[in-house]
Amino acid sequence: MTLHRAAELLAGARHGLALTGAGISAESGIPTFRGEGGLWTKYDPVKVSSIETFLADPAAYWMVSRERGRVALAARPNPGHVALAALEAAGHIVAVVTQNTDGLHQESGSSRVLELHGSGRTVECLDCGRREPRSAVQERLDTEMPPRCPHCGGTVLKPTVVLFGEPMPAAPMQEAFALAAEADVMLVVGSSLVVYPAADVPFVALRSGARMIVINAEPTPFDRLAEVVIHGRSGEVLPEIARLIDA
Ligand code: NAD
Ligand code: ZN
Repeated sequence: MTLHRAAELLAGARHGLALTGAGISAESGIPTFRGEGGLWTKYDPVKVSSIETFLADPAAYWMVSRERGRVALAARPNPGHVALAALEAAGHIVAVVTQNTDGLHQESGSSRVLELHGSGRTVECLDCGRREPRSAVQERLDTEMPPRCPHCGGTVLKPTVVLFGEPMPAAPMQEAFALAAEADVMLVVGSSLVVYPAADVPFVALRSGARMIVINAEPTPFDRLAEVVIHGRSGEVLPEIARLIDA
C-alpha cells in the first residue's frame, strides 16, 4: 500500500526532487557512516574527517582514505541508483541532491546531480589548485604517503570532498535549495538526516508545501513529517516504485 502511494505521488509530481545519503550506496558495497555496520562505529569522525586533523597529519588521513578509496573506486551503481536515473529521465524528479561523494549517481545515468559534500573522484593540490583523478592517485598511494602534487613541487593533495570545518560548495547548495523551494514531492533515500545543512533541503521543501517520501533502512527524525515512510533497502524499494509507476 505504501509502495503504491509512493508511486502515485511521484507519478503526479511536476517538480519532484530526490535527496540521497550514504544508504543508497550501501548495496554497492560502500559502508555508511551511521547505522548498522557504519564506519563511525570504528572511527572517530571528527578525528578522521576534519580539515584541522587533515592539515596536521595528512598521512594519517590518507591511510584511512586509501582503504575507503579502494572500495569506492571498485563500486558500481546498484538498482536503487538506476531507478532514480529512470525517474529523472521520465520527468518524475528534476534532480538528485546527494550527500555522497562516490559518483555513482552520475555513473548510473542521472544527469542533474548536486553534490553537497563534493566528489571523491578527484583530488586537488592545496597550493596550485590543480586537480587529478582520484584513480591515478590511488595507484601511487602504496609508494607515496601522503600523495603530493606533481606540478608545483610537492604540496600535499586532498580529495575534493568537504571535510568537517570546511565550507559547503556554494553553487550546488544554492541550486539545491532553490529546487527544494519549488518541489512538490520530496523523495529522501538512505540518509540518517542528521547532517546539516543537507537535512535542511527536505525542511525547505516541506515548508514550501511538498509532500515527502522517506526510504531508509532505519527510522529517521523526519519520518513523522513524511506522507510515506518505507523502512527497507533502497536497491529493492526504488525499482519496485519505478515499476509501479510504469505499470
Ligand atoms: P549516514 O551514513 O549518516 O546514514 C545512512 C543511512 O542509510 C542510515 O540511516 C542507514 O540506516 C541507511 N541505510 C543503510 N543501508 C541502507 C539501504 N540498503 N537502503 C536504505 N537505507 C540504508 O549517511 P548520510 O546521512 O548520507 O550522511 C553521512 C555523511 O557521510 C554524508 O555527509 C556523506 O558525505 C558521507 N558518506 C558518503 C558515502 C558515499 O559517498 N557513498 C559513504 C559514507 C559516508
Ligand atoms: Zn600543486
